[in-house]
Amino acid sequence: MRYKVLYRGTLSSCNYSCEYCPFAQTKASEKAMQEDKAALERFTKWLDSQNNQFEIFFTPRGEALMYPYYRKVISELSWKNNIDKVVIQTNFSCDTKWIESCNVNKTAFWLTYHPEEVKAESFANKCIKLNRVGIKYSVGVVGIKEHFDSIRKMRVLLPDDTYLWINAFKRSDDYYNGKEIEFLVSIDPLFRHNLEYYDSFGKSCKTGYDVFAVEGNGDIKRCHFSEELLGNISSHTLDQTSKKRPCTTQTCHCHIGYVYLEHLELNKVYGNGILERIPKAEEKIVLQRANKEVIKDKLKIKDAHDFEKDKL
Ligand code: SF4
Ligand code: SF4
Repeated sequence: MRYKVLYRGTLSSCNYSCEYCPFAQTKASEKAMQEDKAALERFTKWLDSQNNQFEIFFTPRGEALMYPYYRKVISELSWKNNIDKVVIQTNFSCDTKWIESCNVNKTAFWLTYHPEEVKAESFANKCIKLNRVGIKYSVGVVGIKEHFDSIRKMRVLLPDDTYLWINAFKRSDDYYNGKEIEFLVSIDPLFRHNLEYYDSFGKSCKTGYDVFAVEGNGDIKRCHFSEELLGNISSHTLDQTSKKRPCTTQTCHCHIGYVYLEHLELNKVYGNGILERIPKAEEKIVLQRANKEVIKDKLKIKDAHDFEKDKL
């Protein structure tokens, strides 16, 4: 059986200070870092011992690529026979040299752009390096209103076929008016999927069947939003744990969860790019067309691609 595993270690720390985020500017102690490293080693040893194929998605609390041991593990996993894909959520503040040690056919990135923390040109330039190396990635940004100009700019700077997604800011109801939603949809035609709180209780969801969440202490859960303990990697295989089960949570509103709700059929939208959040090729054509319209109608940024000539 082939499983998708979302791994979240024990560490909670980030080098950025996004005001809406609980992990902003939290520094891990040396002890916490060592515990997290040991947990990651346990997890990778367990993967080695399993008779299954895996796609691994690192979904850290904060930024993990600051730590060399995550970079090393991602690179190593990408070369293993029983690993079909390795993906990580990252703010992409790390240097890019280490990425050359990864197997480009099995490594992908879920990149988040934080306009208050990094210049658009410098972020986009690093993305273009991934294109050159041949690594798949998507870029996302939180759709707070203060970001709208930066979102427009990033859409121009990224290659046309790079998917730029927008996470809806959902802290208050009716945060967006109709025009604002229209703008965000014009940049990310899939934005409305993320705007929803899905009524998920009792609905069929693939988590717990061929998608699992594993925590740093080895606990196996169906997803990051369920407290129900299904086992621990110290004593369980996923084959023992796997079964079809309805969702027991009232609502689901995060991409890394609702994409597995079967009635939404989002597998048809994302295909094999579901972890790194890259829509299938035919969806991308629609996205590119929509994005080009936005660029043509709304932007007048001259020489937008001049920065590509800069050295990385
Ligand atoms: S980069 Fe991500 S994890 Fe770090 S503070 Fe910003 S939102 Fe939080
Ligand atoms: S619908 Fe969301 S909360 Fe419910 S089981 Fe699936 S991923 Fe978890």
